[in-house]
Amino acid sequence: CAKQQGRNGYRYYTDDMGQQARQHTELRSALVGALPGRQFELHYQPQVDLRTGRINSMEALIRWRHPDLGMVSPARFIPLAEETGLIVPIGEWVLRTACAQLKAWHQEGHAGLPVAVNLSAHQFRGHDVAQLVARILRECDLPARFLELELTESALMLDTGTVLKSLLALKGMGTRLALDDFGTGYSSLSHLNGFPIDVIKIDKSFTLEVTRSKSTAAITRAIIVMAKALGMKTVAEGVETEDQLRFMAAHQCDSMQGYYYSRPLSVADMGALLAENRRIPLDLIGPDAAVD
Ligand code: C2E
Ligand code: MG
Ligand code: MG
Ligand code: MG
Repeated sequence: CAKQQGRNGYRYYTDDMGQQARQHTELRSALVGALPGRQFELHYQPQVDLRTGRINSMEALIRWRHPDLGMVSPARFIPLAEETGLIVPIGEWVLRTACAQLKAWHQEGHAGLPVAVNLSAHQFRGHDVAQLVARILRECDLPARFLELELTESALMLDTGTVLKSLLALKGMGTRLALDDFGTGYSSLSHLNGFPIDVIKIDKSFTLEVTRSKSTAAITRAIIVMAKALGMKTVAEGVETEDQLRFMAAHQCDSMQGYYYSRPLSVADMGALLAENRRIPLDLIGPDAAVD
């Protein structure tokens, strides 16, 4: 991009809109080459059990390392991948890579640990996701209970019939289903009636405010209580501070994920963290902490 500008000597798009539109087009064509060019990798962020203080799961998060553009955030390219349909092969690569990596970790002695993978609603359109997941689990020789699939509320509402059918098939196979970014969409658990959801991930915008805003604290407590009443587990996303951690633990949120414990890590760093088996100090997570 900078190189091209240097060669031309002129910039034809001087306004922000033009710049953005051009960047968008460049990114779009670069994305086509990303999978064949092996430019994607997965990072893993641990989730920590708020009773034991230890890692109980991890989320696979895609990273795109472009040779010229550098690291491109998934917040930027996932919407593009959805628009272009590239999310289908990319999503399949993510599932296969995460399952194969988890199998390797199991064989290294971290048996019993699940992995969570994000799914886009577009992966359900005209594709049998349940069949794809079944095939990948078979290929990797991984029992379905070790795979958790994360969906957003808006994805569920986009195409309720198709998505629900696939979710029921996935649930029937034994995979776990999580609702991502809860609170940013319809935020209504009654909307979810009939969806076979096992886990609710409380969006990081709540976590951020929970120690600063009384109303956010009240809403967050209510989400945890409602989820529990419906037999669902809760995970607090975006826990960065000790106060946020204490709040979530005190209100019986089941797990947390966030920079406080660890950022998303490369395979090597995640492997090292698993081997270390580091625990959150039990005095931080309160009287309910389980002693082991
Ligand atoms: P998400 O699924 O809600 O993932 C959590 C995001 O929060 C990640 O951003 C993670 O790095 C970030 N995060 C974790 N802990 C903290 C914290 O303590 N503070 C803050 N400020 N942020 C934290 P990331 O990796 O940039 O991913 C952004 C979004 O891109 C994901 O949100 C997900 O919606 C999407 N995404 C990532 N990987 C995939 C994928 O393989 N497939 C699909 N369809 N979407 C993906
Ligand atoms: Mg997620
Ligand atoms: Mg999320
Ligand atoms: Mg998010």
